[in-house]
Amino acid sequence: QGPDPELSLVTERLQDIQHKILILSGKGGVGKSTFTAQLAFALASSDTDCDVGVVDIDICGPSVPLIMGCAGEQVHRSAAGWSPVYVQDNLAVMSIGFMLPNNNDGGDDESAAVIWRGPKKSGMIKQFLKDVDWPALDFLLFDTPPGTSDEHLAVVSLLKESGITGALIVTTPQEVALQDVRKEIDFCRKARVPILGVIENMAGFVCPSCHGHSQIFMPTTGGAQALCDDLGIPLLGSIPLDPRIGRACDFGSSFLDTCADSPAAQAYLAIIARI
Ligand code: ADP
Repeated sequence: QGPDPELSLVTERLQDIQHKILILSGKGGVGKSTFTAQLAFALASSDTDCDVGVVDIDICGPSVPLIMGCAGEQVHRSAAGWSPVYVQDNLAVMSIGFMLPNNNDGGDDESAAVIWRGPKKSGMIKQFLKDVDWPALDFLLFDTPPGTSDEHLAVVSLLKESGITGALIVTTPQEVALQDVRKEIDFCRKARVPILGVIENMAGFVCPSCHGHSQIFMPTTGGAQALCDDLGIPLLGSIPLDPRIGRACDFGSSFLDTCADSPAAQAYLAIIARI
């Protein structure tokens, strides 16, 4: 059996992309998309000055356009393929959110549900990789849906030839989220995706008035650190709850630009330095 022509096309498209990183979570709502967006802004910031791309493969719940400040944009097609939406010169974004009909005409299509079966979702992800005119990038970050589903299988098989640098797994400290991290780790091991590490998000709250630290979610088993020790995986860091993170996402802006001295920003920077 010869090489799969579709995979070869993907490989050709992505040949100038150095690192392809999957951002995974076992559960929804743990801050995976937030982390993806803020990581992208930080890597593309003037300090690091990397060329960065984000692919939102959460087909049924795309949130990247809103939190990266490009909701309502449309992708354009040229002879070279679809061009991604550029948030800034060195930060390109691709999402199904840009392709839903009339999403910038003031109608209510932004709230229309995308209800697609597996093959259609996989087909769209294939187009994101095969038909998009990706520039040369240092990092291409994949914001995936929670759990392990059709989208994950699609991206892993489409990147079989060109290779995945690794996966970052985002969790919160609660036991119920940590249990699902084990499933993500099992998926990565079975799919032969290297695990770069775990990020514990919403780990405590620092009161902006008194600067006291509260543990909002108390795991019963020692939390993310114990899980990582048990499974031999690095815990890259713990990000506290900070309402300004949510606010930055609502405005589609970089949290690190505005709150650089906060404990949450320091945690972000320490994690980024370890990636
Ligand atoms: P997921 O992608 O895992 O479903 P989101 O990134 O959409 O989760 O985050 C869920 C909510 O939590 C969002 O409202 C986001 O602004 C908020 N959030 C994420 N991380 C933090 C944090 N460290 N501090 C405060 N709010 C956060």
